[in-house]
Amino acid sequence: MTRPVRARINLGALQHNYQLARQAAPASRLMAVVKANAYGHGAVPVARALQDADAFALASVEEAVQLREAGVSRPLVLLEGVFDATDLAAAAEYALQPVVHSLEQADWLAQAPAAASLHLWLKVDTGMHRLGVSPQQAGAVHRRLAALVEAGGGSVRLMSHLACADEPQHAANDAQLAAFLSLDTPAAERSLANSAALLTRPDMHFDWVRPGIMLYGASPFAPNADRQTGLQPVMTLESQLIAVYPRNQGDSIGYGQAWTCPAAMPVGVAACGYGDGYPRHAPAGTPVLVNGREVPLIGRLSMDMICVDLRSQPRARPGDPVQLWGAGLPVEAVAARAGTIAYELLCNVSGRVPRAYSDG
Ligand SMILES: *Cc1c(COP(=O)(O)O)cnc(C)c1O
Repeated sequence: MTRPVRARINLGALQHNYQLARQAAPASRLMAVVKANAYGHGAVPVARALQDADAFALASVEEAVQLREAGVSRPLVLLEGVFDATDLAAAAEYALQPVVHSLEQADWLAQAPAAASLHLWLKVDTGMHRLGVSPQQAGAVHRRLAALVEAGGGSVRLMSHLACADEPQHAANDAQLAAFLSLDTPAAERSLANSAALLTRPDMHFDWVRPGIMLYGASPFAPNADRQTGLQPVMTLESQLIAVYPRNQGDSIGYGQAWTCPAAMPVGVAACGYGDGYPRHAPAGTPVLVNGREVPLIGRLSMDMICVDLRSQPRARPGDPVQLWGAGLPVEAVAARAGTIAYELLCNVSGRVPRAYSDG
């Protein structure tokens, strides 16, 4: 028998979430963000399941070429643009749409004949202060880029990214919108909204929305935002108990002897650990489902295994189903306990975990 850990990917739930995004932004085109292997879900099967998305967004030429070679013919946007001038030849060959976020990238384009018909996305920094040319530079850079590509049939669109969209009440959201609206550039298609803005700010939808996390069924909002989304989890990370032992009061469990049994009790061992992408900082008490019911994680987890307190399930046996997160246990809840966000847990499910796809 193979090791029982696997990530079930429910493509029906993915399509449900995609339809929610479409309904929330009916007048905009939709760029489905599938960077980082579609947040751990598998970029090729996810793109195939969302084949009527208007574009897909990725983080590198390599990620984009993987989709092209799998037969995806939709526009592919490189969210960080190219990493050096030589990437531009590949961008042209595969008809990719690079973001241009810096003057250096604009210089590379000016020196690359192959780039003369590309569709470009000029990224403007409206306040996140990560990537982007300044609002003051935007007009001149836009005109410079347009002069490079428009004669060849290319175009220059405008994009910016929000720092605080996960907190809809944050004042930075309105400030970034105001900066985006007052850019002094030629008329162009525009894009600002990630998942959180797509769901809360119709005034930020513009021509293109860029949902990522919501497609995968995790909330884009900070935990304290406490918003209902109607999203369905796409990934369920599951395994099985591989052992159940009776332990004595005073027995310590796992590395560092960090957790001690307060009473005689059954302790289960499940085949899933940080080598599979389960967060190593998940503390004792983090919920795990055994036979569909919550039990607490105990002790320090290891690379391949976690231990759970089975006092509430004295009849649990090796082979019983274990769920780490997904359809029965929100990944956000596990992330909050581990001091991280759902995005990180989903992305980190490691390559050794087989993905099992179903239509739901
Ligand atoms: C990752 C990313 C997104 C998607 O963000 P979500 O919060 O996952 O919806 C959108 N735009 C850019 C530029 C990104 O890097």
